[in-house]
Parts: sequence; structure tokens; C-alpha cells
Amino acid sequence: MSIQSINPTTGEVLETFEPYSQGKIEEALASAHQTFLSWRATSFAERTHHLQNVARHLRERKTELARIAVLEMGKSITEAEAEVEKCAWNCDYFAEHAQQFLADENIATNATQSYVAFRPLGVVLAIMPWNFPYWQVFRFAAPALMAGNTAILKHASNVSRSALEIERIFQEAGLPDGIFKTVLIPGSTTDHLIEDPRIAAVTLTGSEEAGTRVAATSGHVLKKTVLELGGSDAFIVLADADLDQAAQIGVTARFQNNGQSCIAAKRFIVVDAVAEAFEQKFVEVASRLRVGDPLDYQTQIGPVARADLRDALDKQVQKTVKMGARVLLGGKPLERKGYFYTPTIVTNVTPDMPMFREETFGPAAAIIHARDAEHAIELANDSQFGLSSNLWTSDITRARELAARIEAGGVFINGMTASDPRLPFGGVKRSGYGRELSTFGIQEFVNVQTVWVG
Ligand code: NDP
Repeated sequence: MSIQSINPTTGEVLETFEPYSQGKIEEALASAHQTFLSWRATSFAERTHHLQNVARHLRERKTELARIAVLEMGKSITEAEAEVEKCAWNCDYFAEHAQQFLADENIATNATQSYVAFRPLGVVLAIMPWNFPYWQVFRFAAPALMAGNTAILKHASNVSRSALEIERIFQEAGLPDGIFKTVLIPGSTTDHLIEDPRIAAVTLTGSEEAGTRVAATSGHVLKKTVLELGGSDAFIVLADADLDQAAQIGVTARFQNNGQSCIAAKRFIVVDAVAEAFEQKFVEVASRLRVGDPLDYQTQIGPVARADLRDALDKQVQKTVKMGARVLLGGKPLERKGYFYTPTIVTNVTPDMPMFREETFGPAAAIIHARDAEHAIELANDSQFGLSSNLWTSDITRARELAARIEAGGVFINGMTASDPRLPFGGVKRSGYGRELSTFGIQEFVNVQTVWVG
């Protein structure tokens, strides 16, 4: 079956791709493996030079790349351009810091000398999603390549043009062929790739379903995996929070990228004392969001990326409302061409409802009322997910104490969760395992080698 890119703004087919043949997949594998054998021996200086070239190419082609992402998955052009910029920053960051992050570590023992060295693993297979078509890939690729690995990308099928453009960026930047290869295949056919002996490890960002499948296949052949899966991040607002700030940032945290972000704030857990006041402000800010053509620089909210995802979101909202929650804003698809959904806020959400239990991947916020801070923490932790979280209070000492009790890979106090090359990124519970970015991320795909000299 062919792979299609569909413009979510219009529903029109943009491009049709033939899935790669066995022969073409073999070519990519052989090339990535062969290149690894020489790339692993290159100096950090050489890798740095290459990654800085990649960053330069990203910046030069920013507008064009951003437009491709907008057409394929519907994010706003402003956000798409910022995403390409962030990829360039990430390349520069790891180009500059990889050597320091992977420097030998001397450890005193009874040996004459003993130390830990970080060796590359080989070809890493990256199975990536469509929501940040460039960032998800570069977040993995910049540190992995700087560590001496090579990469094969199996991108989400609805962003195949973006996937091919990423491969082209590496080629145009003058990196050896085989450093980074894209293969166009459906997600359901990745098992053979994972099982191939030339694939050393696998990283996946996506749904729980895809994550469990990839983890099972990789486990069967004993390959290391890093999984960055869904989230249902709590955004806790305590009685002493700055409500204006919380409402303003809360809207960005929920609705940026059309609400399709694993680290978006999804469950707004607000203590009773300020619930009404927060709701009023939150609705006021959200109702000003400009919905429209994502290629227009004025637009903040475009369409949801696919019709099935828009329908799944609507189902979650309708079921939640049917179970007793109340719509404060929106609550339905927009009546126009494409897969638009009105910015939606639903309150009186309780733990038994889909908008609490499940990940909502689109522009719909759930507000949950908590009796007090204790209850808020309890509600935050009452989730199978544990990616990140947000905590709003003016008492920072107390916030730090509460942070220790939140079961999530991140706690952002008086701010919104955002990935940053300098900080580790990843989750606990069913949000996955392993970390991306920072020293922790670069050390995921290395052989931590002990060297002992008698
Ligand atoms: P998927 O998990 O299906 O897609 C993510 C990637 O995994 C794609 O490259 C996809 O390929 C691939 N994939 C799918 N099934 C398998 C499989 N069995 N084995 C190996 N790879 C597979 O996500 P969807 O796009 O369907 O989105 C569904 C939900 O997942 C969203 O509503 C959201 O809740 C969550 N999600 C979370 C993301 C995050 O950032 N954590 C990102 C995207 C989605 P292909 O496209 O060819 O199927």
C-alpha cells in the first residue's frame, strides 16, 4: 500500500510515496553500517565541523522546511520556523559540548589506572512521530551522531516529505553518505529492521501502542531502546499562584502545536479556592486564540494533523461531557474544510472520564477541581502517565517539596514544560523510559566501557 501525505488544512493529497523495497532498505542498512565503521573513528573536531554545517543548512532553509511541515501536519508557520531554529540550536549545542560530555572519566581503584570511556554503539534506528517533524528527529540525531553513531530514520508516514528533506539536509551539509538515512515504510513493518543485526539500538517517540510493540520486538533480540511515549501532564494551580500568569502560560502550554505535544499541559488541576477565578481568566485568554490557515503568520491554531486524530479527540470530549463535565469553550469540530477542532475547555472533569484517564492529543483542556494541595498532588499522580508536570504557587520552598512527590520526569514550577538541549527529557510509568538531550541523552546510545590497567 502506498504512503500518502495529506494536507490537514484542506484534506487534499499532497504526495504519494511508494514504500521502500527490500532492496532499498538493504541499501540504507548497508550504507549506515559501512559509514559507522569509519565515522566512529573520527575526531570530535571533525564531527563538530559537520554538525555545525547541518545547523547552518537548517537555518538557511528554515522557511522552506517550515512550509513543508505546515503542509504535511498543519502546525502554524510561526511555530514551524521556531522548530527548525531549535533543531539548529540543538546541533550547535551538541557540536560544542559532546566532547566534554563523553570525556573519559578517571576512577581511582586498586589498578594503576582505571577509567570509563564512552564508545559509540552503531546504527541507531529512530522511529519518530509527526507532531514535531523536525525537532523529534534532531533531538535524537544531534547527540547520537556526535557520539559516533549513525542513524536510520523511519518517520511517521504522514510526514514523508519532511523525512526526505531531513536526509537531504545531512547530504547537502556534506556529511558522509550513510550517516543519516531515511526509509519510507509503514510502522507495522518495522520488525525486520529492528531485528537486523546491523541495527544496534532503537529509539521511538510516539504512542504507547507503538512503544510496547517496539519494546517487545527489541527485547526479543536484546536491543537497547529509549521510549518517549504519551503524557497527560498535570498543570497544578494552588491558591497562592499568580493566576494571570498561570492562565496566560497555561493556554500556551495546552494549545501550542495545536495541542499535539506529548509535554503539553493536559490536566489543569486547580484548587477550589481559585478555581472559578482561574477558569474565567483561562477561558478569556483561550478564546482569543486565532484559528485559521496555518500558513498565515497571524494564525495560532491550525488543523489537527489527521482526520482520525481529530475524530478520536472529539470522541474523548463528547464522552467526558456525557459523563457530567461541562464545556466552557468550544467542544466540537469546526465547520470548515480540513481537520479543525475549536479550542476547547471542559471543566468538572473527574478521574473516571476519558479526558482525565487518556492522553488528549489536540486543542482541548480538562479542568479538574482539587480540595487542596494534597488532593492536587494525589490527582496529578493518579495517571498511568508520568512525562512532565507544572506547579503554580508563590511558595517556592513548598513547591520544591511538592515536586519530590510528583511522579513525572519533569516538574516545571511557575512555567511551562519545554524541552531544552541542556536538560534531560523523558518520562516514567507508561510515558516511557530513558532520557533524551543533555549528558543523560548523549549517554543513552554509547557503550559505557570500563578500562582497567593493572
Ligand atoms: P504512532 O505511535 O502510531 O506513530 C508514531 C510512530 O510510530 C510513527 O513513525 C509510526 O509509523 C510508528 N508506528 C506505529 N505503529 C508501529 C508499530 N506497530 N511498530 C513500530 N512503529 C510503529 O502515533 P499516531 O500518529 O497514530 O498517534 C496516536 C496517538 O499517539 C496520539 O493521539 C498521541 O496520543 C500519541 N502520540 C504521542 C506522541 C509523542 O510525542 N509522545 C507523538 C505522536 C503520537 P506510521 O506513521 O507509519 O504508522
